[in-house]
Amino acid sequence: MEDLGTEHQTCVCDQCMTRLLIKGCSKIRKHDNGIKEHYIKCPRCKAEYTSFYTNEDIRRMQHRIRKMFALRRNMKKES
Ligand SMILES: [Zn+2]
Repeated sequence: MEDLGTEHQTCVCDQCMTRLLIKGCSKIRKHDNGIKEHYIKCPRCKAEYTSFYTNEDIRRMQHRIRKMFALRRNMKKES
């Protein structure tokens, strides 16, 4: 069973070597221009690791891509 979620994904903090559960330590910081910074914060030493940035355009694009993939899956199922 393939699991693409971040539910149980972990990473190790470079600063204090603590194993972090990505989902539990994920935070979002809002910038100007609608940009959102997704980052992981270590609960032990407070080190921050930026995972990715999103803004409205990117979110719209991701939504479109997801719809495209869903469409392709449906087509496969029918054939
Ligand atoms: Zn740390």
